[in-house]
Amino acid sequence: QKSEWAKLKNEPSQSADGRKLIVGSNIGTPKDLAGVLASGSEGIGLYRTEFLYMDSAELPTEDDQFEAYKSVLEGMNGKPVTVRTMDIGGDKYLPYLPLPEEENPFMGYRAIRISLDRTDIFRTQLRALLRASVYGDLWIMFPMIATINEFRAAKKIFEEERTNLKQAGVAISDDIKLGIMIEIPAAAMLADRFAQEVDFFSIGTNDLIAYTMAADRGNEHVSYLYQPYNPSILRLIKQVIDAAHQYGKFVAMCGEMAGDQIAAPLLLGMGLDEFSMSSTSVLQTRALLRALDSKDMAKLAEKALNMDTNEEVESLVAASVKI
Ligand code: PEP
Ligand code: MG
Repeated sequence: QKSEWAKLKNEPSQSADGRKLIVGSNIGTPKDLAGVLASGSEGIGLYRTEFLYMDSAELPTEDDQFEAYKSVLEGMNGKPVTVRTMDIGGDKYLPYLPLPEEENPFMGYRAIRISLDRTDIFRTQLRALLRASVYGDLWIMFPMIATINEFRAAKKIFEEERTNLKQAGVAISDDIKLGIMIEIPAAAMLADRFAQEVDFFSIGTNDLIAYTMAADRGNEHVSYLYQPYNPSILRLIKQVIDAAHQYGKFVAMCGEMAGDQIAAPLLLGMGLDEFSMSSTSVLQTRALLRALDSKDMAKLAEKALNMDTNEEVESLVAASVKI
């Protein structure tokens, strides 16, 4: 099978009936680029920039960050690169940035919440990204967005930094896309409002499932509640995709679910535009999607959305799709 998949390295990702798709990679550092290029990935759907902060003994400077972003953008040769701003907090901490002691860090001070508070750190990151933007096709997204006002505040800071740099004569791409992660149920529920203000969504199912099920992703005692095929999760995802498309916006998924062979047929059927995953799953997923008819999968997804349990959906897909 592996050798069959390898033949698809330079083939486009599309369904059997010709619906264009993107199968992209998730990365943590510029070192992951080799794997991305080897996989024939059509873009980077998630660059987790927090590793830049975690692998450093102090806050990375604007220039350090600029070099990292530039190397990834250049390395991708014009293919889209979605960079997520710092997602620190939860289980990721920085020795040089003391965070408050919290009972519940996953529901605490983290990600965009830190960025909007420590705007000095946020502005440095945005300046580095703006300066790097001329080296490729840059998409920027904010993690853990819960409210429209958070997005507006982040966008306002981004626009201020863009204006300042432009006035200083720095070259900046005029086609940077600005989007959000959909990983908090509040944002998923309000997707039709968000869709009017953002350029794109990226669904973060790792957190979205955890917050929807109220079950910590890392807690083995409740791991049975990680249920990507639960119709409650599928309905949320469907709602997000429909809302985005209603306003002509692009929807990606960068959680584990995007590379899951049972979930992918349903996601195709629900209209997902981009599947981003570990580079090692890219070719297998491309092979699967190329064998599926999007209209058949839409019918399958419709059935799944009207089932009761994760297990029923899993059996339905396993019985209907040759994986
Ligand atoms: C997610 O929550 O699905 C996601 C992709 O982000 P992370 O796993 O980095 O929290
Ligand atoms: Mg997340």
